[in-house]
Amino acid sequence: MNKCKKYDVIIVGAGVSGTAIASAMAPYNLSLCVIEKTNDISNGASKANSGIVHAGYDAKPDTLMSRFNVRGNAMYPGLCERLDVPFKLIGSYVVAFNSKELKILQELKERGEKNGVPDLKILNADEVHSNEPKLNPEIIGALYAPTAGVVSPYELSIAFMEHAMDNGAELSLENPVTDINRSDNGFIVKTKNDTFEAKILINAAGAYADKIHNMVMEPSFTLFARRGEYFLLDKYAGHSVDHVIFQCPSELGKGVLIAPTAHENIIVGPNAEDVDDPEAVETTQNGLNEVWGSALRTLPNLPKEQVITTFSGMRAEPSTGDFIIRDYDEAPGFIDVAGIKSPGLSAAPAIAEYVSDLVKKHIHLVEKDNYKPERRKIIRFHTLTHEDKAKLVKNDPLYGRIICRCEGVTEAEIVDCIHRNAGAHTLDAVKRRTRSGGGRCQGGFCGPRIIDILSRELNIAKETICKDSSASRIILGETKGEGKQ
Ligand SMILES: Cc1cc2nc3c(=O)[nH]c(=O)nc-3n(C[C@H](O)[C@H](O)[C@H](O)COP(=O)(O)OP(=O)(O)OC[C@H]3O[C@@H](n4cnc5c(N)ncnc54)[C@H](O)[C@@H]3O)c2cc1C
Repeated sequence: MNKCKKYDVIIVGAGVSGTAIASAMAPYNLSLCVIEKTNDISNGASKANSGIVHAGYDAKPDTLMSRFNVRGNAMYPGLCERLDVPFKLIGSYVVAFNSKELKILQELKERGEKNGVPDLKILNADEVHSNEPKLNPEIIGALYAPTAGVVSPYELSIAFMEHAMDNGAELSLENPVTDINRSDNGFIVKTKNDTFEAKILINAAGAYADKIHNMVMEPSFTLFARRGEYFLLDKYAGHSVDHVIFQCPSELGKGVLIAPTAHENIIVGPNAEDVDDPEAVETTQNGLNEVWGSALRTLPNLPKEQVITTFSGMRAEPSTGDFIIRDYDEAPGFIDVAGIKSPGLSAAPAIAEYVSDLVKKHIHLVEKDNYKPERRKIIRFHTLTHEDKAKLVKNDPLYGRIICRCEGVTEAEIVDCIHRNAGAHTLDAVKRRTRSGGGRCQGGFCGPRIIDILSRELNIAKETICKDSSASRIILGETKGEGKQ
């Protein structure tokens, strides 16, 4: 029988919530493991979302969503600097097409002020159109929130996990939690491959957080799946808009937005469709038509020829209507971080701060002597001057080999992302860390070369390398080997 692995803290789920909590616990002397069912970090909602760090005027006052959104938003600039994550403070507009919508803007402004969002301002039509000249001329005003930003959501989750591991945390991938029992010391956590024991068990399992909760306690909430589909446009469409542009919100959410991404693409979406299966992350013709049609209302000349890919993400909508972040007297040491719908990405740093305080109620935490607050900087070759590039190539010729032509990613950057803590093992994992394969050709050119690099660096057969999930093998066999002509 496998030995039981013992930790002070186990976190179920390596999305932005789980990894942010792991990173927030990094200053303390404790043993911690993040258990994740898929083969990489950020494979759930944290991979496929709008990447907006919301200012915080959407959520109703006195909810956990509003509280953690506003606090999280304020934490972002410093956090992204410390962990070297792409983040841009570009501000957002909610646009109004008629007097009814102008009234909604006023309500959003008042709500935002109650929530503590700074510097909200209603702009008139002239101000809107002089700042965003490509928007529909029928727009008559906008709510401007200067504290909204954009972040690369998967790079943030990866950075959180890497930072936690640099400080001693462990990560167990492809290891779904299947059962949980109470023990004298806390919780026995059974997974596909192992048995773990933890004093503190944190449930950050995204769309499956209700299932994990029900393994420990009586059911008290349910989650349902709401899909959102997107278009991603090439960088050449980069200056279509300079701010995050929202339409007026509806019952189903914040509506279709158009925004520059942290990497200067343009993102367009999402719609909101309730579905039965949380794994149904395919895109659909109907969904994409709905998104594009709605976006054209905001930006009539949105350049469709610049679309390089489409994708969808799955919201975990809680039956309670608010985040469920709490501990329980009936199960001391068990903490739910559930129902983390939007603005969960914006709120993640503040949620993590709060959860680490909850953990302190249950175990005595002592600060480490050798805590590393910063993540080792990532060299992003395409952002450097010619002189700096030349210096790097002189020291390491792998910087002289461009693997991804679309995004200008070098072999040295790919090798680095494989060997960091929480490193890449698949093509998509390399893409999420370096952007190799994220440009116009979507990996058509660099894909085979990245397979070679992964195989060489990890010393594994090319046939075992996957695009994304472990079911997505790329090379199935030889076509031109001996005797196969
Ligand atoms: C379409 C869309 C747009 C959004 N836009 C924004 C936005 O612009 N700004 C914003 O602030 N928020 C946004 N959000 C919300 C944000 O993406 C989520 O709040 C956030 O990603 C939730 O992170 P999480 O870690 O809680 O969940 P997830 O990222 O889903 O992570 C949960 C993890 O748990 C793992 N897991 C599940 N079951 C098990 C198990 N049994 N054992 C082990 N592991 C398990 C999963 O594989 C997954 O990796 C959006 C969400 C969607 C879907």
